[in-house]
Amino acid sequence: MLTGDRADHVVVLLLDGCNANLLRSVIDSGDAPRLAAIADRGTHYRHGTMASLPTATLANHTTALTGAHPGHSGIIHNTWFNRAAAEEPDLLDLGQMFWSSNHIADDVETVFEAIHRTRPDAFTAALFEYADRGATWSSFDVVRGGAMPDLPGHDELAHADREATSASPMYLLGSQVDELSFRHAVELWDGTHGNPLPELTWVDVVLTDEAGHASGPHGELARQSILDTDARVGDLLQAVEAAGALDRTAVVVIGDHGMEQSDPHVDESWEPALSACGVPVRDVGGGFLYLG
Ligand SMILES: [Zn+2]
Repeated sequence: MLTGDRADHVVVLLLDGCNANLLRSVIDSGDAPRLAAIADRGTHYRHGTMASLPTATLANHTTALTGAHPGHSGIIHNTWFNRAAAEEPDLLDLGQMFWSSNHIADDVETVFEAIHRTRPDAFTAALFEYADRGATWSSFDVVRGGAMPDLPGHDELAHADREATSASPMYLLGSQVDELSFRHAVELWDGTHGNPLPELTWVDVVLTDEAGHASGPHGELARQSILDTDARVGDLLQAVEAAGALDRTAVVVIGDHGMEQSDPHVDESWEPALSACGVPVRDVGGGFLYLG
């Protein structure tokens, strides 16, 4: 920004649900050397950044990719009540997830669309990203075309901690999805598909969120997920370097929200109490209350 020099390529790694304090702790421990190197070479926010409200995946992914907060982007939560259409989208439901970007408001621009507005020939890639509207290549677009992702089997995982994948089906699934995403990202950089080098490579890392849910945000699986992710990031950066573009590539590591340890038994709805008071209410997604 100071010199006017600009990167020719940007790689964004969105570590879903990764607690900023945990990430800092793992980097300081020396167990995530690639992420540490990214932080050391550039600048970082020591205490993380503020998520927009609600601090949920779909809401903040869309904000990160559009610059519009959830009240304006068209996607205000993972699930919500659309009064105009009288429907409740649930974008973590597998039948709807891959079509999430259909809900982005028409007057909002994604970063992919913004790049193509000024660089029509740019090649942009969305790896397992919900807000993929306008990307040249998108994992979700492949699914929308009718092909389900061909997830690698347990034995094919290159960077998954076997103890963790055996202990938790969620950790295993997150590892499979991420290995496929990083494999695709590496292919887009190493010329496998004959595409030009991507101007923007946006990778949604899902394991950090799955692991946090499985062990709690400060648990062993959450910590291990950052180590596994670090190894996958190494593969991608190696492909960028092999393409001769590493010194012209900006790498951005962000999250969409963190996590707090909470009491899983505290899960009652406000609905019975409000209904008992005569207030008609619709409780959507365990926390969004629509008063009638
Ligand atoms: Zn998330």
